[in-house]
Amino acid sequence: MRHVIALDVGGTGMKAALVGADGTLLHEARRPTGRDRGPDAVVASIVEFAADLRAHGLAHLGEPAAAAGVAVPGIVDADHGIAVYAANLGWTDVPLRDLLSTRLEGIPVALGHDVRTGGLAEGRVGAGKGADRFLFVPLGTGIAGAIGINGTIEPGAHGSAGEIGHIVVRPGGPPCGCGQRGCLERLASASAVSKAWAEASGDPNADAADCAKAVRSGDPRALAVWQNAVDALADGLLTALTLLDPHTLIIGGGLAEAGETLFTPLRAAVAARVVQFQTLPEIVPAALGDAAGCLGAGLLAWDLLDATAPGTTDTTARTTTPGTTTNPATPTPRR
Ligand SMILES: [Zn+2]
Repeated sequence: MRHVIALDVGGTGMKAALVGADGTLLHEARRPTGRDRGPDAVVASIVEFAADLRAHGLAHLGEPAAAAGVAVPGIVDADHGIAVYAANLGWTDVPLRDLLSTRLEGIPVALGHDVRTGGLAEGRVGAGKGADRFLFVPLGTGIAGAIGINGTIEPGAHGSAGEIGHIVVRPGGPPCGCGQRGCLERLASASAVSKAWAEASGDPNADAADCAKAVRSGDPRALAVWQNAVDALADGLLTALTLLDPHTLIIGGGLAEAGETLFTPLRAAVAARVVQFQTLPEIVPAALGDAAGCLGAGLLAWDLLDATAPGTTDTTARTTTPGTTTNPATPTPRR
């Protein structure tokens, strides 16, 4: 059965799948990245994992994968298939696309940025299904973003479009790892809320989920911490919707697991900030959870095949993502 390899590389673990043409997951697997053994070991783990997935397809699905999609964290050089930098994996300038393509007998390989790849999946098959313009914002250790336009994700000229976590929402506020002060992710990420609630509650082990629980039980200290984060998030999202005018804001990551404890006050806070010329977008929770990166990697791989298939007529279901990279043998059409 015709299928592709989908691989999502995280900080500590990798999620992979063999994906059929209709999106069916034919085989799923997980492995550690082995980052404690250094960046070279991580790269070797990724390449070997992909090779084993190819072998699995050959043995159980009657043929090897026709293409592969890989999502990686950090900075990704879209045009050259290079994983430029990832602080959590310790690598710089890894020519991952070529390494993978060589190991996988020359099949086309797409390399994508993890959040943009996850956003691609949320936009096509998740919470944004049917929305031609959306913004996907996962609230985790940090805050990132993916700008969805007509079934593709806008990468920007240098691969850093959508980094909403580094919009300054509190000038002169807490310092951020990026060098600025008062960035959104220092105020409204799951880790920022965890830190603020640990301080306010006096429990150094308290986290954002505990804060949400305390909010639901009416604890006024928790409500204050929560509202601070919600207000900062609404300020950041207002900037985003002023620039992008999206139909849908898809909010994911650990903090979104608080459900309506987050979404009810967030919708109210954004609504209170929208002015006359603006249209309030739909604000919805992400639907795919931590499977988004892997599903998106599968979409990237199928996009490569659709883009190179002779006589391809269906250009609406799957369109090529600008900024993803292809094997030199299979150039990405530019639209
Ligand atoms: Zn920052």
